[in-house]
Order: sequence, then structure tokens, then C-alpha cells
Amino acid sequence: MILWLFQIVFLDEFYRMQKRDMLRSSSESIVHNIDNQNLQALAYRISERNNVCILIADENMRPLVEAEAWNGCIIHHLGPRTLSQIVKKTLAEEKKTGFVDFPLGGFRNHNYDARQFRGPVPPGDEGNASSVVSVSIAQKANGKNVYVFLNCLVTPVGSTVDTIRNQLYFISVLLVLISFLLSIVLSRHITRPLEVMTAAASALSRGEYEPVANASYLEIEQLNRQLSQAAKDLHRVEEMQQELIANISHDLRTPLTLIEGYAEVVRDLPDEGTPENMQVIIDETKRLSTLVNAILELNTARNGMNELECRHFDLTACVDEILKRYQKLTEQEGYKIFFEPDQHVNVFADEMKVQQVVYNLINNAITYTGVDKTVMIRQLIQGNIIRIEVADSGEGIAPEELEHIWDRYYRGKKPHKRAAVGSGLGLSIVKGILDRHGLAYGVESKEGEGSTFWFEIAKVE
Ligand code: ADP
Repeated sequence: MILWLFQIVFLDEFYRMQKRDMLRSSSESIVHNIDNQNLQALAYRISERNNVCILIADENMRPLVEAEAWNGCIIHHLGPRTLSQIVKKTLAEEKKTGFVDFPLGGFRNHNYDARQFRGPVPPGDEGNASSVVSVSIAQKANGKNVYVFLNCLVTPVGSTVDTIRNQLYFISVLLVLISFLLSIVLSRHITRPLEVMTAAASALSRGEYEPVANASYLEIEQLNRQLSQAAKDLHRVEEMQQELIANISHDLRTPLTLIEGYAEVVRDLPDEGTPENMQVIIDETKRLSTLVNAILELNTARNGMNELECRHFDLTACVDEILKRYQKLTEQEGYKIFFEPDQHVNVFADEMKVQQVVYNLINNAITYTGVDKTVMIRQLIQGNIIRIEVADSGEGIAPEELEHIWDRYYRGKKPHKRAAVGSGLGLSIVKGILDRHGLAYGVESKEGEGSTFWFEIAKVE
């Protein structure tokens, strides 16, 4: 369309504009050199190069310099009176250069009429051929005014234009054909797979997605793979949630049954209201609270409801504080928890949250540690980075499980006798908190040898 507009509709207009620009700059060159001895040579050169006729006349329209480029030019056929009229008409309003359009018609030496001839003869102008005359005024050194007339044809040179137009018809047909073919190819290779994928993706919400066969382009192939992955992930999340509901309901039911049973016993048999029985009720209630708190903590952490409240605190003391909670466990059940820091270090973070991280890591280590019941907590300092490591001597984590353990609701496949209350939320809470602090963390684990969970935090003075 653009090609058509420029080459067919506006071609004449452009040509005319270009010619006018050429006339303007040519007459400027002449006006600048009006006192030059060799003005005639300049006039010839300009006339030759730009195909314009030049006439420089004095105030009485007597020619001073002339250069004729083509036969039948107008300015050489006009009398002094007409020339003066042109000057008056165009140079009114103090303009330096003016233009007049002239139909050629009467100035031609011949009267050509294509109809008079047979065979493929050139078409006639039919009065359309026209030329432009430009007039400029210049002042010579002696104070006298001279007029510079330039004249050129503005009808586009026929044969070239015809060639371009013929080419354009050919190009247009070719373009339509090519675009037609292209659209068929594109729709086959891009649109079709996309349509099929869109249809297939509607099953995505159900966690199902059949990857589209022969997705031809790299990007479509990638999208295809991403969608498959998303489907797998969704499927896994759904599985995990179902598992969680099963786990949680199981985990909730056990303490509830115990509490109910013991409470009934205490109600019916007043003698059974012993501290031990009451302790069972209290312990089971605590288990329930822990579970509920873990779920609540995770949700609020995820929703960003509780902002970080960062301040300076003694990290070493904080770990020590947590270990005190395990004193009873170490005494009664023979767990050995080692923490031997060589100095106290301060950090800037949300104390409660960091406490939660350390607590969850130690809890897991205690739960999953081996028969030697040993848990090792290390505080390593490198430059101004503090690395806290929590290591156990348990069975370790299988490599294929490593990337999943941080996921919400993920619980290891191997049943573990001490992991009865596990909700699969502990590590995902750790991850949430450390991510929000922007801290580095990770796990190194060898099956059969134990796991070491670590995180790093900047030291402050
Ligand atoms: P859970 O409540 O089940 O412990 P977590 O999110 O804390 O949930 O842990 C997720 C899973 O990661 C656990 O079920 C367990 O399989 C594995 N895991 C966590 N810590 C350890 C560890 N110290 N040793 C071995 N496995 C671990």
C-alpha cells in the first residue's frame, strides 16, 4: 500500500517538490556569484547538470547570460513584457525567489498527437506537460538589480515512470502470492500448535497436560515444556495437599483421641486425676498447638502479613537460649547437642524469626539424627560472614529429594519413627524467613552419613 501511495499517487507531487528545491538552490548559487567574471560558465554547468534553462536579465529584461538546456524552454520564448509581469507577480511581498507553473502547450515546436500515428508510439501530453519557472532577484556590485530566471520540466520522465509502474504491478501480484503462502506456512507451524496447546492447556487446572507433538519452533517448544512442567507441578501440589490433609487429620486425631480418653477417665474416675494423666492431656494439647502454630506461621509468612522487625541482637546467645528448651530432652532421652562457640557475635535481623529458623533446624536434626542421638551446631566466622550449621548423624536425604524438602507440605518418603508430628512445614517456614531476609542457605547431605543444614548472615559490631 505504501509503495503504491508513494510510487503512483504521490509520485508527481514529490517530483514537483524536488524540482522546486533544485531550482531554488540553483538560483541561490547564481545569485551568490552574480558579480563573478565567469558567471556564464557556472550557468552552463548548472544548466547541463540539472537540465534547467537559465536566463539572467537586467532591469529592462535584456539578456545578460543565457544557457539553454532543452528545446522549447519557456523563458527563452517570452518577451520582456511577460518576463516583467512574471517578476511583478511572483516577487511581490518582498520575496527573494518565486515560482510560476507554466503549461508547455503553446511553446512546443511541434504539435504532436499520438492518434495521428500507427504502432506503439509515445503518448501525447494532452496538455498536461508543464514546467516551472523560478525568478530571483539579485543585486550587482554596482547597485543595479538583475533577475535570474530558471526553467525546468516537471512532468516525470515518461519511460522511467512507466517501468516503475509496470514493475509495481508485478511486485504487487508477487507480494500477494508470497504473503498468502507465508500465512499458510505460519498458520501450520505456529498457529496450529498454539491452538492445540490452548485447548490442551484448559486441562491444566486439573494438573493434566498432554505435550503437543512436533511443536516446530523453539519458543513454542519451550512454552510446551513449561506447560508440561506446570502441569506436573500442579499435580504434585495437589498430591501433597491431599497427603497433608491425610497427615494432618491423622496428626490431629491421635492427640484428640488421647485427650478425650484421658479427660473421660479423669471425669469418671476421680482417683485417676493423677499428675501423670493430666500431663498426657497437657502434652497432647501442646502437640496440637505446635501443629496449628506451624500452619498459621507459614501462612502469615507467605502472605507477608508480619513485616520483618530487624534489630541488633546476640546470635550466639539466641542459639544458646533455644538449646535450653532441649535440656529436658537431653537429660531424659540421652540426646547430645553440641554447641561450642568461641565468641559471641551480633547480627541485624528479626530476632524472633531467626530464632524460629534455628529452632526448626535443630528440631529436624533431633528428629532425624541417627542412633548416636548426636546433633552438632557450629558457628563459623569468615571475615564478616557468620555461618550457622546444624548437623546430624542420621540417614541423610536422597539426592532426588533434596530439591523438594524446602517445599510446603513436603514430607520425606521414608517413614521415620520420631517424625510423627511432622507437617512438612518446618523447612518451608525456614525458607520463607531466610528468603525474606535475603540470606544464603542450603543443605549438604550424604545418605547414611547425615545432613548439615546451614545459613549465612552478616556480622555486625
Ligand atoms: P517435617 O515436619 O516433615 O520435618 P520439614 O519441612 O521440616 O517437615 O522437612 C521436610 C522433609 O525434609 C522431612 O520430611 C524430611 O524428609 C526431610 N528432612 C528435614 N530435615 C532433615 C534432616 N535433618 N535429616 C534428614 N531429613 C530431613
